[in-house]
Amino acid sequence: MSKTALITGGSRGIGAATVRLFADRGYQVAFLYKEQDQAAMKVSEETGALALRCDVTDRDTLKESIKAARTYLGVKSFDVVVCNAGISESGLFTHMTDEEWHRLSETNLNGAMYTAKYALPEMISEGRGSIVLVSSMWGETGGSFEVGYSTTKAALIGFAKSLAKEVGPSGVRVNVVAPGVIDTDMCREYSDDIINQLIEEVPLGRIGRGEDVAKAIFFLGSDEADYVTGQVLGVSGGFYI
Ligand code: NDP
Repeated sequence: MSKTALITGGSRGIGAATVRLFADRGYQVAFLYKEQDQAAMKVSEETGALALRCDVTDRDTLKESIKAARTYLGVKSFDVVVCNAGISESGLFTHMTDEEWHRLSETNLNGAMYTAKYALPEMISEGRGSIVLVSSMWGETGGSFEVGYSTTKAALIGFAKSLAKEVGPSGVRVNVVAPGVIDTDMCREYSDDIINQLIEEVPLGRIGRGEDVAKAIFFLGSDEADYVTGQVLGVSGGFYI
């Protein structure tokens, strides 16, 4: 029987590349997205993955969507859960509104926490599974003008390490990928000059692609990483070492 994966934020960018890679490698995939129906349908048609419109901050809908995904895939529990949905906000910390802080925390940190919380009980009772959280190198280094974003991404690392200790004895692994600068819609606000300056910081000489991150997520999710838990795998071309 095929393995299964649930991926949040699968309609675009890193999430879409991850849906494509898991589907290519024979997984049955369900993914969640917030509102971009056309992008989601395109990924779904290309991969055969189930697309479910679900805001990860809406707990009731999330619970129902996770249940619906299990039913559709015909499984009690997922082999892999990828908590990738995220947003960014940049600007001076002193100019940041409470609403912006709340939106970032609710989406990037709590959205991942809710997803793990609702997927985990069945993974624990099946005694297997792997959760991969998508953080950021800014969560490791701190990023000026991105204090709120970096804070949520740092918190995900603490969450993963603690959860890995708690659920390891139940056979569930929890790991993190920490991408550097990746060419997705999230980076569209950067000018060419800024992108070129950023590239100068990258030993491997280019910004990343969604596929680069998807490969690291796939590794951590798969049995190839079956003795790896509580770890942070950087995918930054060496930007942060
Ligand atoms: P994109 O903006 O390209 O895609 C974001 C995805 O998340 C979309 O599928 C979007 O759905 C979904 N999403 C956003 N908010 C919600 C929500 N509340 N509920 C459900 N889905 C939601 O981003 P990236 O692919 O660049 O980023 C993916 C992850 O990688 C994020 O967590 C980001 O922080 C992280 N990251 C990105 C880096 C980069 O340089 N790009 C670097 C480091 C980390 P919809 O299409 O419907 O809007």
